Amino acid sequence: MNTLFRAIPSVDACLTALVAADPQLSQAPHPLLRELVARFWEDRRKDIRAGYCQSAADLALEASLPRLLEYVRLGLRPRFRAVLNATGVVVHTNLGRSVLAEEAQAAVNLAASGYSNLELDMSSGGRGSRHSIVEDLLCRLSGGEAAFAVNNNAAAVLLVLNEFCQGGEAIVSRGELVEIGGSFRIPEVMEKSGTRLREVGTTNRTHLSDYAAAITEETRAILRVHTSNYRIVGFHSAVPLSQLATLAHAHNLPLFEDLGSGSLLDLSPYGLPGEPTVSGVLNAGADLVMFSGDKVLGGPQAGIIAGKKNLVDRLKKNPLARALRCDKFCLAALEATLRLYLDPAKACERIPTLRRICVPPEVLARRARMLAARLRKTLGNSCAVELRTSTSRVGGGAFPQYDLATSLVCLTPARTSVTALKNALLEIEPPLLGRLDQEQFCLDPRTLETSQYALVARVLQTALQQAEKLVASTGYAASQ
Ligand SMILES: *Cc1c(COP(=O)(O)O)cnc(C)c1O
Repeated sequence: MNTLFRAIPSVDACLTALVAADPQLSQAPHPLLRELVARFWEDRRKDIRAGYCQSAADLALEASLPRLLEYVRLGLRPRFRAVLNATGVVVHTNLGRSVLAEEAQAAVNLAASGYSNLELDMSSGGRGSRHSIVEDLLCRLSGGEAAFAVNNNAAAVLLVLNEFCQGGEAIVSRGELVEIGGSFRIPEVMEKSGTRLREVGTTNRTHLSDYAAAITEETRAILRVHTSNYRIVGFHSAVPLSQLATLAHAHNLPLFEDLGSGSLLDLSPYGLPGEPTVSGVLNAGADLVMFSGDKVLGGPQAGIIAGKKNLVDRLKKNPLARALRCDKFCLAALEATLRLYLDPAKACERIPTLRRICVPPEVLARRARMLAARLRKTLGNSCAVELRTSTSRVGGGAFPQYDLATSLVCLTPARTSVTALKNALLEIEPPLLGRLDQEQFCLDPRTLETSQYALVARVLQTALQQAEKLVASTGYAASQ
């Protein structure tokens, strides 16, 4: 064992060899590089102690260099990286939800690269309010008298409940006490806001009389929550918003709606009926509506609150508003995105999230054929490439009841397994995410740009080679 330990090269010798093999590494932060080399050899020492490494020759610098190089490169890579989304899920929370329109990207760049009038009153030169950057646009597009944006929709709900319901009760239907994934659970957010939850009705049916019977001295508001990502089918009923508004207002109570995804446009012409719009919710009588900026809206992460001016004015003065405020990048991107909505046809064309939701199935079929042709050419006999019609999802808790028609490009590797391919695609630069469907690895063109096809082909080719090597070296059955 001592012979093995002595075979380990010095850190300095490794550094010299690394830089000789890849001159770019001389630009890497030196302390980090040293640490990575030391950690690599620490792992080898563990291997030696565990009996996994028995040959001094394997430990020599020359033999170890390829692995060391790979280890160091991985260790130096930024954590935040671009990925290729071939899942077909347009608003994918794990993949950063909405991709910004070019106009919004340019606005973020403007905010990032110089000083701006973020809180400057342009008429007096004195202090202005960052809220004014998006308020007029939000009012125009939502039909609200006033509006403002905070960090995300969870923050919007927290702020509204804290301002209007702290120390009292808010009434919510049992069918709407949802968890939105991650850790957003309506009952828990209510508790943090200082609001007591008054549940009414049952999981599948809640009636107006249930709400009416629950109103007491303690009641501060009625809250309705869009049941984002689950569907109730069968024997089920909820109270129409307009009836809830009449009830709330008869008792001098405000009605709030957590709309979740919050569509500014009616997308029913695109085969997506049934999702309430922000202006529809306010027209039906809600006093405030809260929704996300980065779901169907297609903008940056934000929580938007729109509705009655006297209520919004109170929210702006709540100390939590300062803690939950949007930064300049968010406001810049949000304004640019909202400006596109002033012309709805332009919004559907320019905002990637809307464009991807609205793309017709025949266009997707054509793109799938294009992608398949390219993959057949690049991948040759290493992989069978087939086309299949299927469906994709909007994601982000929007339109849970709708499947969007799509065409998938489905891959069956010839010399490795689908699982090995999927794993290799996560290791590669840039990583590619697809979906497993009928034991094939499938790519949905809905969330890819045609300009990315060449890159997708290259990434798949490399990943297949790596997955094949893995199968060869571990004897993994190709069927596994
Ligand atoms: C997504 C969602 C939220 C949370 O919104 P974030 O912008 O992710 O904070 C809250 N409520 C509903 C109904 C949602 O769908």
